[in-house]
Amino acid sequence: MDADHSQGPKGSLRKLLEHLSGAGKAIGVLTSGGDAQGMNAAVRAVVRMGIYVGAKVYFIYEGYQGMVDGGSNIVEADWESVSSILQVGGTIIGSARCQAFRTRDGRLKAACNLVQRGITNLCVIGGDGSLTGANLFRKEWSGLLEELAKNGQIEKEAVQRYAHLNVVGMVGSIDNDFCGTDMTIGTDSALHRIIEVVDAIMTTAQSHQRTFVLEVMGRHCGYLALVSALACGADWVFLPESPPEEGWEEQMCVKLSENRARKKRLNIIIVAEGAIDTQNKPITSEKIKDLVVTQLGYDTRVTILGHVQRGGTPSAFDRILASRMGVEAVIALLEATPDTPACVVSLSGNHAVRLPLMECVQMTQDVQKAMDERRFQDAVQLRGKSFEGNLNTYKRLAIKLPDDQIPKTNCNVAVINVGAPAAGMNAAVRSAVRMGIADGHRMLAIYDGFDGFAKGQVKLGVSDIILNLAVFSVLPGKYLEEIATQMRMHSINALLIIGGFEAYLGLLELSAAREKHEEFCVPMVMVPATVSNNVPGSDFSIGADTALNTITDTCDRIKQSASGTKRRVFIIETMGGYCGYLANMGGLAAGADAAYIFEEPFDIRDLQSNVEHLTEKMKTTIQRGLVLRNESCSENYTTDFIYQLYSEEGKGVFDCRKNVLGHMQQGGAPSPFDRNFGTKISARAMEWITAKLKAARGRGKKFTTDDSVCVLGISKRNVIFQPVAELKKETDFEHRIPKEQWWLKLRPLMKILAKYKASYDVSDSGQLEHVQPWSV
Ligand code: ATP
Repeated sequence: MDADHSQGPKGSLRKLLEHLSGAGKAIGVLTSGGDAQGMNAAVRAVVRMGIYVGAKVYFIYEGYQGMVDGGSNIVEADWESVSSILQVGGTIIGSARCQAFRTRDGRLKAACNLVQRGITNLCVIGGDGSLTGANLFRKEWSGLLEELAKNGQIEKEAVQRYAHLNVVGMVGSIDNDFCGTDMTIGTDSALHRIIEVVDAIMTTAQSHQRTFVLEVMGRHCGYLALVSALACGADWVFLPESPPEEGWEEQMCVKLSENRARKKRLNIIIVAEGAIDTQNKPITSEKIKDLVVTQLGYDTRVTILGHVQRGGTPSAFDRILASRMGVEAVIALLEATPDTPACVVSLSGNHAVRLPLMECVQMTQDVQKAMDERRFQDAVQLRGKSFEGNLNTYKRLAIKLPDDQIPKTNCNVAVINVGAPAAGMNAAVRSAVRMGIADGHRMLAIYDGFDGFAKGQVKLGVSDIILNLAVFSVLPGKYLEEIATQMRMHSINALLIIGGFEAYLGLLELSAAREKHEEFCVPMVMVPATVSNNVPGSDFSIGADTALNTITDTCDRIKQSASGTKRRVFIIETMGGYCGYLANMGGLAAGADAAYIFEEPFDIRDLQSNVEHLTEKMKTTIQRGLVLRNESCSENYTTDFIYQLYSEEGKGVFDCRKNVLGHMQQGGAPSPFDRNFGTKISARAMEWITAKLKAARGRGKKFTTDDSVCVLGISKRNVIFQPVAELKKETDFEHRIPKEQWWLKLRPLMKILAKYKASYDVSDSGQLEHVQPWSV
């Protein structure tokens, strides 16, 4: 086995920073407009990255109001001032809407306050209004300075010295209403809040056969409503961008009554607060309730989620997103020249990118204009590919044609779960079964993995229930004969495998067995589902986000458990086999001081340096340390060893506790991301199967080429089908990980944010590429 475990190019961030010193520069950071979870993570990253590069960083409290008022509203930040805020919702520096900043006079005062402190770099975290204000301020800057000099409020030479204001924006908004970025800071956390409520409501609604009308935020943008509807399989969703067709009242009632007739005990209707009809008239939750009550007589309740959606702790995704954006924002400020337009740091598919701020603002305003002018198709398109994709998938899954109206393909498609369970697998199965039935196939569910398959546990899949297909870790190799027999007996024309590395190996075995058993010459596709996120061919797998959130939440609790006690370091062991994804990303999301992983070998000198680093940190006001360790990162430096080492070396400075998180990482309710990812990727897999079967119809085709046995995965911005045969060379079979793993580029980020010196193994920038895809 010759895998290179020091993956990831070395040195690019270090090199970048050598040329980009922040010495002599001052950065002001403010949060403005509505608050959003994750803003604190962004503030923390800006402060720490700013200090890391040698700049001074100033908090500007209370948004633009603090900038206009000056005084104690603008305060220099130090490293410790952003400690323990990563897990806190809202914004510790306050946010406000400020009328004064809309006037030139107000902006003049703001400019004066900044110049007095030498601040010529501004990092604004807010919505499109806040970013528009920032851009205007930048444009007016030199004029404002001249006026201040003329009034004698600043020195004449200050006009030259502080001639340019650099502006970078980060979009903090739970609505995800900003064009140019796939995800804004706070959206994922808001979805967590919504799904928590939906799950809670579902249990009570089931008990009483109720209809629930759930109103979620989004005055102008239906993203939260749409994605929640997709995640919970809502019966109906109302969005501002895509109003229901004329006559929707009757259609909706027919659908609800059909669902009841099919013994569905609850109905969920999701409404965006800004939902409208095709005439731009509001569709309110009360109106919907009245309709259901008068037309159908159902017991119907309205729940308006309101500010709950802004509350609570930020999700792991938001913390990582905001941390990366904050670091990128500082680099953007350092790189800015007088000619660089104000930019916004945003997320495009799998990438973090910088875009011209005003172009994005313009596009955002164009969506509103399109809605005002009732050009709803344009509005959906302007929202972006991801929004459109979500809407199409929702429609496909929600609209069930009567059986006699679906042209039958006479094809049997089987779905199987393999390996350990991962949250979101059920969503994937549900979506596959529904899509398959809608495409006219007969959907078969295989129970108990390959073991069950060999024993003939094959049943008809039903579209309305979430199938709970037990998962097993038996490879098909020893049962090939039996499985081939079952394939023949049930005339299986295509196979969808949902699982992790075990499933991947299984797919390879089935593929290799094609020569001997022609039953396997059918289209076979696998969608990755494992908490470890170690399947070759995909940057993400179903279940990893849920596990990451569990780890992050648990780390928060563990850290909190020590409040009020003396200084303490926690050693936390995560799952993942040899794959360090959970330890690394969990470390980033929880603000760990170190995360030991197999992919980045470490020795006793690294351990020593980490212990010394923590000891130094503990001499400041910082009270707690967090160290994550991936379960298989080292044969000899075990969790016990590390615990004992830290305990011994920390004597007199801190004490130590260890926690092995274990199987709790595989449990819990699936996160919104995993539900949607599972739903969308499975739907894509079924489209592929349908297309293959369609192309082959009537010709009795045997599928023998490599491209008919694929892993469906996400790579950067794209959803791709990769032949399993080609993926072999990208696989480290001994350690059950892909040879290349994108997230290794994020390693230095955690170190920088944990206050390691510049010289300490800064191995890559990473923030120019990104984390989590939404546009399946
Ligand atoms: P949200 O999406 O939560 O509404 P937002 O940033 O769009 O956030 P706004 O209320 O539009 O929220 O803007 C916040 C603040 O930004 C305003 O109170 C004002 O101080 C400033 N601002 C907004 N638009 C402008 C503008 N055109 N010129 C100057 N300042 C502005």
